[in-house]
Amino acid sequence: MTDLQKYPPHDRWHDWTELDAKAWPDKVERNYTLVPTTCFNCEAACGLLAYFDNETGAIAKIEGNPEHPASRGRNCAKGPATINQIYDNERIMYPLKQTGERGSGEWERISWDQALTELGGRIRTAFEEDRHNEVMYHVGRPGEDGYADRVLKAWGTDGHNSHTNICSSNARIGYQSWMGHDRPSSDFANAEVIFLISSHLEAGHYFNPHAQRIIEAQSKGATVICVDPRLSNTGSKADHWLPTWPGTEAFLCLSIAHLLLESGNWERDFVRRWVNWETFLAELYPNMPQTFDSVEAALKDHYSEYTPERAEYITGVSADQIREVAVIIGKHPTKFASHNWRAAGAGNEGGWQVARCLFFLNVLTGSVGTEGGTSGNGWNKFAAHQPKGAPPLPRWNELSWPQEFPLSYHEMSILLPHFLNEGRGKLDTYFSRVYNPIWTNPDGFTWLEALKDPKKVHCHVALTPTWSETSWFADYVLPMGVGAERHDVSSYETHAGRWIGFRQSVFRRYEEIKTGKPVSPHKRSHEFNPGEVWEENEFWIDLSWKIDPDGSMGIRQWF
Ligand code: SF4
Repeated sequence: MTDLQKYPPHDRWHDWTELDAKAWPDKVERNYTLVPTTCFNCEAACGLLAYFDNETGAIAKIEGNPEHPASRGRNCAKGPATINQIYDNERIMYPLKQTGERGSGEWERISWDQALTELGGRIRTAFEEDRHNEVMYHVGRPGEDGYADRVLKAWGTDGHNSHTNICSSNARIGYQSWMGHDRPSSDFANAEVIFLISSHLEAGHYFNPHAQRIIEAQSKGATVICVDPRLSNTGSKADHWLPTWPGTEAFLCLSIAHLLLESGNWERDFVRRWVNWETFLAELYPNMPQTFDSVEAALKDHYSEYTPERAEYITGVSADQIREVAVIIGKHPTKFASHNWRAAGAGNEGGWQVARCLFFLNVLTGSVGTEGGTSGNGWNKFAAHQPKGAPPLPRWNELSWPQEFPLSYHEMSILLPHFLNEGRGKLDTYFSRVYNPIWTNPDGFTWLEALKDPKKVHCHVALTPTWSETSWFADYVLPMGVGAERHDVSSYETHAGRWIGFRQSVFRRYEEIKTGKPVSPHKRSHEFNPGEVWEENEFWIDLSWKIDPDGSMGIRQWF
């Protein structure tokens, strides 16, 4: 029992004894039951194990789950910190209703049944009056794979809104334009060159699962190149740190492309097979022979202006450094794993070109869909099918998809309060979830103005574990669980492999293990979680039944 252990072996999770670290130097044994779940503190959904102290019945600590194929037992600090969220003295424990004006802080505790009955009634009325699109679910980080979308479809409302237009939308469309997948899945573990733009160790997509593979590859000899104006964690760990001026990253990538073409270090067979070079020649070089033999000269000509010297002037990175990394990239065909997310794409005009130009380097090095290269996310994400899928939506919501923005790649969420202020529509019931728009958006006071006005937003329901600038101005604040208190399935392209993670209320599961009996399916997770903390999925199911109690609206059949 005192031998050092890396992780408790799976077959002893229900009866695991170890010394109490806090009792040191006394050797006090503690017996635990370990219950797995997945983290909800970023999108990576790493595996967690909750250690229930069998004497007190409380969670003593939360650590990594070695069985999780992406995180492999390793987490960033936010994973084990789930215990701080669970036992946080200031967390919201019960459903609350604002009795005074929004922002007055006059809250009264209500029951879940009251919340469901009141919300179910008002949503039913909206649907009966054909005002479906006045019900909106505005989510920042869903942390689950599509259950909420299924709910909205079953309700017949085009009510999904996101935060993506101020986040990943630009990077996504850059990738989409190349390969029809809007996210990369980088095989860092097997790469020989790792090239990162705004995708940082423990601070960018996909946090720890990426970080551990990047560092492992580097320790096996891979070269890590980091493009970042800041000397970030990644910059400090990188073999080459390229501190570009913000917004010039695309030019840097094209300069590297120029050098690969000039040196002849590009993968002709890959380009011949997978790139629509015929269209390129026909559109831009119609006077050249329309055969692949013309492509090299055409590409060289097309990218001739992206010299390292010009790149130095524009990006601030020295021409010598650009040449140095281009030589390294050119020496490792098919093993170039790259990633771009958010900052460079999101924070600059034309930022969508960053991912687009970066992926051009993958194409030139033939590192697409290869071991050690970069794939489309769909290759590695296991998209779970929802049970009993709802029918396609019969409605279009002009508040999130206004027709004057036909090229918008995601909902025009940033403009929602402006549309409300212009009188383009109103919201009967607005759910905010993992989203703090008053804080997140640059024009927070415009959001505040709209969210405070009951003529524009009749009822605002904040589904949240914690207080925020936005939840303070809601009509209902309904406490939602953290990673150890809710049920979801999710899968992400964390590495070259497919997996699906199951998140669960560890309190509910611990009850089953302790008693040796399954809990009744009629029980809800808020009956096991601290206080009356609940979760979205069970909340949506029960709310759907309240909206359509006798099934006559055709909603209840889906739940
Ligand atoms: S990387 Fe993300 S999912 Fe993994 S432990 Fe950290 S916060 Fe949780």
